[in-house]
Amino acid sequence: MGKIQELDPSLINKIAAGEVIESAQSVVKELVENSLDANASKISIEAFYGGLSKIIISDNGKGFEEDDLEISIKRHSTSKIKSFQDLENLHTYGFRGEALSSIASVSRLTIISGSNEFAPALKLDSEQGKILSVKNVQGRKGTYIEVNDLFYNTPVRRKFLKSERAEDKKIKDRVNILSLSRPEIEFDFFLNDKKIYNLKSVTLENRITDLFGENIGNHLLEVKLERRGIKCHGFISDPEFYRSNRLGQFFFINNRPIEIKNSSYLLKKCFDELLPHGAHPWSFLFFEIDPRYIDVNVHPTKKEIRFLDEEGFNSFFLEAINNVLRSKTPVTFLELKRRLSSPMPGKNTFEPSEKSTFQSILHDDLFKNPLSIKGFSVENVGAGTNLQELTSNNEIVHRDFIPKKHFGILFETFILAEAEDGLYIIDQHTAHERIRYEEILNSLKKSVNVSQPLLSPIRIDVSIQEAEEIIERRKEYEKVGIFIDSLGGGTLLVREAPVFIEAGTEKEVILDFLNRTGNQSEERELYDLMAKCVACRSAIKKGDHMSDHILGELINRLSYCDNPSRCPHGRPTLIKLSRDDLEKMFHRK
Ligand code: ADP
Ligand code: MG
Repeated sequence: MGKIQELDPSLINKIAAGEVIESAQSVVKELVENSLDANASKISIEAFYGGLSKIIISDNGKGFEEDDLEISIKRHSTSKIKSFQDLENLHTYGFRGEALSSIASVSRLTIISGSNEFAPALKLDSEQGKILSVKNVQGRKGTYIEVNDLFYNTPVRRKFLKSERAEDKKIKDRVNILSLSRPEIEFDFFLNDKKIYNLKSVTLENRITDLFGENIGNHLLEVKLERRGIKCHGFISDPEFYRSNRLGQFFFINNRPIEIKNSSYLLKKCFDELLPHGAHPWSFLFFEIDPRYIDVNVHPTKKEIRFLDEEGFNSFFLEAINNVLRSKTPVTFLELKRRLSSPMPGKNTFEPSEKSTFQSILHDDLFKNPLSIKGFSVENVGAGTNLQELTSNNEIVHRDFIPKKHFGILFETFILAEAEDGLYIIDQHTAHERIRYEEILNSLKKSVNVSQPLLSPIRIDVSIQEAEEIIERRKEYEKVGIFIDSLGGGTLLVREAPVFIEAGTEKEVILDFLNRTGNQSEERELYDLMAKCVACRSAIKKGDHMSDHILGELINRLSYCDNPSRCPHGRPTLIKLSRDDLEKMFHRK
């Protein structure tokens, strides 16, 4: 007799359960999705001891069809699709018919389900997928499912699970995702008998603040775009509110939480220098795509998705985010005030001391000592002409603000300027940093004469391993204008340095750059980093005096920047007090 045998169905289920049910949070996910598919408007979730001792999910949905209850815990039984074609037009979470049978095979399960209170409900008890009893019980509308002793018969799986607390955390994260995906649904959530959430039916914005706190509500930018059959709506956090990891990023496609390949990367790309190094924005983005253009059947727990046109999707994604990010900066005064929630300066706050500062702006002293600002070549060029040289693009357009005139400097730091649409307060350091950053980036992108030989080469001493790594990447560094040779051991010699580094600061800028390259190797990333390192070192500082002429030039150039409202590290460069705000404050409107 041959050795090949058909496997016993209960063994097949146990094996399959490993794919669908990885841990208690997957039980929560599958059961809540079933409740949503059953059109429930209220779902309650309870978990005990990391979900391993007990999970209870109950809903007020339409309930199981009477004949379906027993079949449902058998493998591949679903009421949601009948043929392969149905997969192309899928509007339910489930379709594989695997969840209940998988859960049943690795637990002691009880299901009580009915369609209304007046007819008896059915109660099913099972153990390891084997039905123990099915009986009539008191009627109810909806379904109650209790999963006891999860993985009790698969000790290896159980061993792989983390600590109870870690599992609790995973369950909570899962409840967050599920409840975000459907803010119109009510959710109750208890962990070890402690009430965690009691979520009412609300808008997405309110669901976000219910889950993550009021503060985030002040930092949400609304995203909305529709193009060629794809829709996107939701929120991202503004550049002032971020996390040091990606755990605040949620993506949904057709309401299904999905890990979109590249999504974090795409987001990061949009925020670019708006965010400090290592910062990640929050996102709550919902995409609606015709199910025919996506394949959800690529992963057993459906957490990944395949797009028919991935490029098309990516470019849509970038457009949706860029639209809000670019239009929402600069920060208006009232918005800023709302964020800081500090009282507005009324007439009582103009005390004598402030009055004298105000007068000193009008005083000529501030403008007496014109300094030649490093990196700023206003000599030889008349107003306007030098701007053309800044960029190869002749059709320069003003971006967010069009300055008309300026009134000098407040507190040796803030430039006051009038523009078409309001009064701008500009931080001289961050503004100059932004200008320098874009200048350097542009010259790197044009790649003409980025480096020049040093009269006396710079010696750099690092560890042998670091030296080897640097030499290995020297071709990359040459693209930004750093030419390095090895002198053996841990000694390196920089022979050529980028032209735009101010004389005397080469060593510190280059060291800073080398320290920060990490695993960036794309040309674009290296350019960006170099521009940041130089801009930071060469920008005028708080307290540096500027002539009136240079002041004017500074704001003028800032107005031509691609992104005038932030410094390369994400700090604001300007704050706007719009004409509208002013008129409101003085009750003229
Ligand atoms: P799928 O969701 O892929 O269809 P499941 O194993 O998760 O497979 O569920 C099997 C079937 O059980 C579903 O198709 C549905 O008919 C029924 N079912 C499961 N949970 C519920 C529920 N909470 N309310 C009503 N019916 C349910
Ligand atoms: Mg299901």
